[in-house]
Amino acid sequence: MQYQKIRKPIVISTAILVHLLLVFHLLFSPVIIVMASHKGYINASFIAFAIMILLSLFFGRAYCSWFCPGCGVQEFMSFIVKRKAKNTKARIIKYFIFTLWIGTIISGYVINGFQGIDISMGMNDITLQKKIIMTVGIILIIVPLTTIFGLFASCKYVCWQAPFMIIGTKIRDFFKLPGLRLKAKTENCKSCKLCTKKCPMDIDVMAQVKIGKMGHVECLLCGNCIDACKHEAISFTTKCENNK
Ligand code: SF4
Ligand code: SF4
Repeated sequence: MQYQKIRKPIVISTAILVHLLLVFHLLFSPVIIVMASHKGYINASFIAFAIMILLSLFFGRAYCSWFCPGCGVQEFMSFIVKRKAKNTKARIIKYFIFTLWIGTIISGYVINGFQGIDISMGMNDITLQKKIIMTVGIILIIVPLTTIFGLFASCKYVCWQAPFMIIGTKIRDFFKLPGLRLKAKTENCKSCKLCTKKCPMDIDVMAQVKIGKMGHVECLLCGNCIDACKHEAISFTTKCENNK
């Protein structure tokens, strides 16, 4: 099965829908959850991020490459931009952003105390103008980063959601829980490097296959490496025995 024939239409459609309907703020805004926390409330945004971390316990970072509107924008840009962003130390920036963000949310609940659950908290104040600013703002982060540093630069360097899923994946792997991951058949590898070449996250996939240890922290489970390998050396699995 060629996973890209399914994944790309899904993720590009998600991006188009989220941007056209101006619903980015409903689930993905890093701001609205902060606003709710500083009134002591759990809102829809909080629940969405909680679900995201729970899902990552099984699906790892698959959400990033299959459903994230930000990924969809970059897939769209991939028709023009061919270079992929490098796996540099700049990846650490997203953890600083995440820590600052989570710290701000926690401080809101600590200072104001827990007041209850109000799903619509912060949502009703979002005017059409603010919705447009948020939607365009995200595009204004992704497009320049992709143009300057290459494809998936925002996922690698600045995405505030990525650490959620990385933490979920780490917990899953630590407890050896079943969940979606890559599996290598080292003996099938013919060292053609096509998997590495096709990986949008600049992971040396072949090197992982050679040692039979998949599960790079930046792997989005997009399936590009699986599609690229003509020798069936890589596949999806839900068992954890392959992560040596
Ligand atoms: S594409 Fe397959 S055969 Fe080629 S290097 Fe990767 S795992 Fe090995
Ligand atoms: S290692 Fe494979 S599944 Fe993971 S990001 Fe790279 S191409 Fe996608």
